[in-house]
Amino acid sequence: MIARSGSDPLADLPLSLTREQLHREVERRHGKPIAIQPAPAGLGKDVTGLWLETDERSWIFHAAGESELLRRHVILHEYGHILLMHSGCELTLGTAFSHIGGSRRIKTLLGRSTAWTVQEIAAEDAATQLAARLAHRADPLLEAF
Ligand SMILES: [Zn+2]
Repeated sequence: MIARSGSDPLADLPLSLTREQLHREVERRHGKPIAIQPAPAGLGKDVTGLWLETDERSWIFHAAGESELLRRHVILHEYGHILLMHSGCELTLGTAFSHIGGSRRIKTLLGRSTAWTVQEIAAEDAATQLAARLAHRADPLLEAF
């Protein structure tokens, strides 16, 4: 494999990963633990996923009740933001995340929504690339179709 330029953080990821290996690799590059949880009630209806970062750790929230395939895609999309080291955007959340400690502790907050910014497009592209790396593994869900 020929390494591409260092500007692409996905280029030096292994070509085939399990979900668990990918999660650990994203955590390693991020430098802190990442918890994946269903989103709390009160998010906007068009927000399907969210990355929330504090000094100590990050969370990836996915919309509750979505299909397994969309949930997986949302998680890969948020991995993309983390690997690409995107900065957060303004998002009005009300008290949805008050259990984490209030907005002052939150460093980064990125929602996956219908607003397609440059960062969103890059994260979608990263999600597609990550999915291709995972697709090398036998996937019982996908093989059922
Ligand atoms: Zn996004």
